[in-house]
Amino acid sequence: MTTMTMGRLFVISAPSGAGKTTLLSRVMARIPGLAFSVSHTTRMARPGEKQGVDYHFVSKPEFLTMIDAGRFLEHAEVHGNLYGTAKSGIRQQLEEGLDVILDIDVQGAAILRRTGQMAAAYVFIAPPSMAELEKRLRGRGTESEDRIQLRLQNARQELQAAGEYEYLIINEDLAETADLLGAIILAERARAHRLPSGKPIGSVAG
Ligand code: ADP
Ligand code: 5GP
Repeated sequence: MTTMTMGRLFVISAPSGAGKTTLLSRVMARIPGLAFSVSHTTRMARPGEKQGVDYHFVSKPEFLTMIDAGRFLEHAEVHGNLYGTAKSGIRQQLEEGLDVILDIDVQGAAILRRTGQMAAAYVFIAPPSMAELEKRLRGRGTESEDRIQLRLQNARQELQAAGEYEYLIINEDLAETADLLGAIILAERARAHRLPSGKPIGSVAG
């Protein structure tokens, strides 16, 4: 097959602490051809997070300037900080034929769905229970008590948006969940409508 296919977008949302970061690193290590969309945020970096790898950490004025310049595909305020997906980064990744993972919240996902500017597969990752979510958030040990409470409060609302997604995965057993997410990505890749402009298979194969 010689024709280069544009990559596809995967929108992945989860309440904070559900295990999305852990899952994504497993799946991305296993499946070739995936790229992570590095968001911009005004949140402070956690220990171990790297500038330009986990996020582009920017000041609030810088973020607001980017909004005014129309540089975001979507942006939202989440847990008191601003987060956004810059258009430039993902465009390049998609043109390289990479499938791009957008780790964004339910508001950002709703914006993309509503505007319909780019086709995407929507995946929601839920914790097995609120008690388990709280345990994981505390176990991670990266947030203060009031930040944990805010994230738990937001989680209840975010879980209500799960029905708006095409795929729902409950992250109980990490290995099983990673297998399931990997299977969803591979199944999406196999969708026939991904052939360039609906050409018959004979014209793109060989
Ligand atoms: P998120 O990115 O969704 O906020 P993390 O990936 O940081 O969540 O996971 C939160 C915490 O829960 C981490 O300490 C992680 O090791 C743990 N965790 C993730 N998935 C599971 C799981 N299936 N079972 C138990 N603990 C998990
Ligand atoms: P965290 O601070 O734990 O890294 O992320 C908090 C929340 O912000 C998560 O739900 C994550 O998906 C979301 N988020 C990260 N980047 C973006 C983004 O670019 N846009 C939107 N809308 N949400 C984001």
